[in-house]
Amino acid sequence: MSIFSDSDSTVGLPDPAPSATLLGLAPNASIEPGHREQASTDRSGFVAQTHPDGVVFAESAEDVAATLRLATLHRVPVVPRGAGTGLAGGSSARTGEVVLDVSRMNRILRIDPVEQLAVVQPGVLNAEINAAAGEYGLFYAPDPASTAICSIGGNIATNAGGMRCAKYGVTRESVLALRVILADGRELRTGRETIKGVTGYDLNALIIGSEGTLGVVVEATLRLRPTPVATATVAAFFPDVESAARAASAVVAARIQPSMMELMDGPTLEAVDAATGTDYRSRGAAFLLVQTDGYGAFLEQDVVLEAVRPFAGSCGKAADDDEAAAMVSARRDAIPSLEQMGRVSIGDIGVPRGRLAEAVTGLEEISAATGVRIFTIAHASDGNLHPMIVMDPEDSVTEGPAKDALGQMFFLANRLGGTLTGEHGVGLLKRDWVGAELGDVSVGVQHSIRRALDPLGILNPGKAI
Ligand SMILES: Cc1cc2nc3c(=O)[nH]c(=O)nc-3n(C[C@H](O)[C@H](O)[C@H](O)COP(=O)(O)OP(=O)(O)OC[C@H]3O[C@@H](n4cnc5c(N)ncnc54)[C@H](O)[C@@H]3O)c2cc1C
Repeated sequence: MSIFSDSDSTVGLPDPAPSATLLGLAPNASIEPGHREQASTDRSGFVAQTHPDGVVFAESAEDVAATLRLATLHRVPVVPRGAGTGLAGGSSARTGEVVLDVSRMNRILRIDPVEQLAVVQPGVLNAEINAAAGEYGLFYAPDPASTAICSIGGNIATNAGGMRCAKYGVTRESVLALRVILADGRELRTGRETIKGVTGYDLNALIIGSEGTLGVVVEATLRLRPTPVATATVAAFFPDVESAARAASAVVAARIQPSMMELMDGPTLEAVDAATGTDYRSRGAAFLLVQTDGYGAFLEQDVVLEAVRPFAGSCGKAADDDEAAAMVSARRDAIPSLEQMGRVSIGDIGVPRGRLAEAVTGLEEISAATGVRIFTIAHASDGNLHPMIVMDPEDSVTEGPAKDALGQMFFLANRLGGTLTGEHGVGLLKRDWVGAELGDVSVGVQHSIRRALDPLGILNPGKAI
C-alpha cells in the first residue's frame, strides 16, 4: 500500500495540511520557528507577514527530487532557497509553502584546470569558487558584491551580475551546464562542458535567471578564466554625481573595456565613512572607481584617466595594490554601511550607458518628490544603477512612499530605454511592473513555458513573471 493512500489519515481527525504531510515524509525537514522565520524573507527589505510551514534542508540531488515528488503529489508550493541574500523577495516564503533550502549542498566536486571549468553543488558560495580556482591561476568572473555570502545556485537563478561583469559578462556567460530537478522530480540536464555546442534549444539560458520557477539547480558546470596578469586602478572624485555619470559614459565612449567601473554618490560615501572610518566624502560629492586588467591594463588606465579628467575634481592612479583593494572595499561596504542606518531596499534599474546622468538626475527628482531617502551606487559600465531606499526599520518597501518611489524608478528606467531589473531579478517586489516592460505577448509566452515545465504551479508561485 502506498504511504500516501487515504488510509494515512487518522479516522475522525481532519486531514493534515498538505505541507504537514510533505514535511513528515521529506528528508531533513524542520518546522522549528527559527528556521521558518529565517526562510520568510531575504535581504530585500520585504517584511514578511507570515512564515512558511517548514524548511527542507536538502543534502543531495536525491533529497531535492524526493521533496519535489512529494510536493507534486500533495500540491504543496515549494520555494527554493540558497543563501537568502536575494534583493527581490525571490526566496521569501509564506504560510502554506515549504522552503527547499539547498545551502547544505555545498561541495566543489571538480576543478579541471585544462578545460578551465569547475563543477559545483548549488550551495557553494561564490567566493569559495574563486578561492578554489585561484589555486590553479584561474578565477570565476561574476562577482556580486555579496560574493562572500551568496550561493552559486542563487547566482544562477537570478543571473547575478557584479563588478567584473563590465568585461567578463554576467552569470549566463559563465555557466556551461546544469543539472536541474523539475517540479515533478525529473532530472533535466542542460548545456554541455564544451565551450561551443548548439544541439537543441538553449535550455541553459532558460534556467539561468528563472528565479526558482522552472526547476531547482542541483549542480553547475562553470567556466573559469585565467587570472589577469595585471590590474590597474583609477580613482576619481567629482563635484556632483551627474559629472561622475558623464565621466563613466566618456570611458565607455573611449572604446576600451574596463574590468570594473563603479560609481558612488555623495550620501553613500558619507554612509561608508561613518561605518568604516574612511574620509572619502571630504574628497568629493561622487566617486568613480575604474579598473582595467590583463596585459594592456596600464595602457588602458591612461585612456581612462584622459576620459575622466575633464569631469573630475581630482583623479589619479592607485599607488599600489593595497590602495586599490581599499577602494574596492569601500564599494563593497556600501550596502552593509547603509544597512546600519535602517531597512534598505536596493533597486537595480538598467539604462543605456549614455543615459546614466539622466538616470541619476531622475532619481534625485524621485527622492525629492516622494520624500524617500535614495542613495545611489552603480555598475557604471553596464548602465546598471542601484538606487537604495533607506527606510525606518519598521517600514516595508511594499507599501507607502517607498513603494511609490520604487514604481517611479521603474518608469524612469523604461522611459530612458532601460529595464526595471539589471541583475537582482523580479522576485516578489517588482512583479507589478513586469507587464509594462515586457508587454502582453512576452508575458503570455513566458507563462506558457512555465506551465509546460510546472503545470501545477508548484515552484515559487507568485514570483518572477
Ligand atoms: C550586500 C549585498 C550585495 C549584493 N550585491 C549584488 C551584486 O553586486 N550583484 C547581484 O547580482 N546581486 C547582488 N546581491 C543580491 C544577491 O546576493 C544575489 O541575487 C544572489 O545571486 C542571491 O543568491 P542567494 O544564494 O542568496 O539566493 P537566494 O536569495 O536564496 O535566492 C534568490 C533566488 O534564487 C532562487 N534560488 C536559490 N537557489 C536556487 C537553486 N539552487 N535552484 C533554483 N532556484 C534557486 C530563489 O528561489 C530565489 O528566487 C547583493 C546582496 C547583498 C545582501
